[in-house]
Amino acid sequence: MNSFLSLGLSESILHRLEELGYTEPTPIQIEAIPAILAGRDVLAAAQTGTGKTAGFALPILQRLVAGPGVKSNHIRALVLTPTRELAVQVEQSIATYGENLPLKSAVVYGGVKINPQMMKLRGGVDILVATPGRLLDLFSLNAVKFAQVETLVLDEADRMLDMGFIHDIRKLFSLLPEERQTLLFSATFSEAIHTLAAGLLQRPVQLEITPRNSTAQSVRQYVLEVDKGKKSSLLSHLICCRGWGQVLVFTRTRYRADQLVKRLKRDGISAAAIHGEKSQNERSRALAAFKKNQLRLLVATDVAARGLDITELPLVVNFDLPKIPENYVHRIGRTGRAGLQGEAISLVSADEVKLLAAIESVIHQTLVRQQETGFVPTHKVPLTRQVQERPKKPKKVKK
Ligand code: AMP
Repeated sequence: MNSFLSLGLSESILHRLEELGYTEPTPIQIEAIPAILAGRDVLAAAQTGTGKTAGFALPILQRLVAGPGVKSNHIRALVLTPTRELAVQVEQSIATYGENLPLKSAVVYGGVKINPQMMKLRGGVDILVATPGRLLDLFSLNAVKFAQVETLVLDEADRMLDMGFIHDIRKLFSLLPEERQTLLFSATFSEAIHTLAAGLLQRPVQLEITPRNSTAQSVRQYVLEVDKGKKSSLLSHLICCRGWGQVLVFTRTRYRADQLVKRLKRDGISAAAIHGEKSQNERSRALAAFKKNQLRLLVATDVAARGLDITELPLVVNFDLPKIPENYVHRIGRTGRAGLQGEAISLVSADEVKLLAAIESVIHQTLVRQQETGFVPTHKVPLTRQVQERPKKPKKVKK
C-alpha cells in the first residue's frame, strides 16, 4: 500500500490528512507531490476526480510555509481556474488542507462586487485562486501585485482555452515573475494546450494519470436510444422506475436546461438548473441544495458544470450529447470519483448519431446501446455510426 509518508510531506500536513481520513495517496498525488516539492514544473493530464487538487495544493502549502511572509497586496501562489464554481471549490480544498498552517488563502471571480475582494487582498494572501478576467481587473486597480509569485497553477487549462481565456491568460503570464514554478493540469490535450505548455513550462515532469482523452474506468457508460421529443418523458420514467437519487443532468443549451427543469417539476421531481444566465447566488444555492440531497436533479450546461466536485455522485445523464466531444470526458468525470463506481447514461436521438461517433472516436471505445424496457417510444430509431434518415412523414392525401 502506498502512503503519504513516503512522499516527503511535513508532519503538520500528514496530521491534517489523517484528520481528513485520507489514508492512501491517489496515483496523481504519488507522482505530483514529490515533483512539486522538488520545485519542478509539471504538465499533468488528469481529470477532476483523480485527487489532483490535493496533488498540487499539499506541496504548494508545504513550500509556502517554509518561505518568507507575504507583503501587502501581494500573493505567493496563484491558481487560475476557468469558472467561478471551480475557483470556489479549489479554494475550499486549499483552506481545508491548510487549516492548521499559518497561511492565508482567498478566492476572486467575476460577477460579484469587486470591493470586498480588494479588501481581502489588502493584507496579502499566500494562495490566491482566481478566474482570469477578474484577476486582471484587480491588477489594473492595483489591488494585487505579482512580484512575490513563486508558483502558478493552471487548472483545467483546456477549459480555459475553450472558454476563450487565451488573451487574458497570456496577458497574466507577461505580468508574472519569469522565475517561478508552473504547473499545468488539463483533462484533454489538444495542439493548443501543447503550444501553451511549450511556452510556459521549463523541462516539466510529465504525468499522464488517465490515458489521454479517456474516461474513468470506474464509470459504467451506455447509451439509451430515444426519440428526440421523448427525452424528458424517458428521463422522468427512469427517475421514477429506477428510484434514482442524486443525478447530474447535462443539456446542450440554457434554454433546454430551463425547459427540462420545468417539465421535471411538473412531474413532481425536484430539480434546478445552473447555467451562465443564472446569478452566482442562484447557482451557489442550487449547488448547495443538490449537495445536501434537497434537490434530486441538477440540470447543467457544460460551462456551468465544469469543475463541480460533488462527492460520491453516482450518476450523470447526458440529456443531450455535447457538441464538443471532449466535453463528454469532462461531464462523465463528475461520477466514479476517487475510485467509486459511477454510471453515465446518454439519451441519444437519431439526430445525434454523428456526435456520438465523434465522442466514441475521442474515448476510443464504442458505447453499449440499450433500449429502456417498459418505456415504449413511438418510433424505434436504430442508432448506428452512420447518420440515419428520419422516418418520412406520410404525405397528406387530398380528399
Ligand atoms: P479532485 O480530483 O481534486 O477534484 O478530488 C476529488 C475528490 O477526492 C475530492 O472530494 C477530494 O476530497 C477527494 N480526495 C482527494 N485525494 C484523496 C485521497 N488521497 N483519499 C481520499 N479522498 C481523496
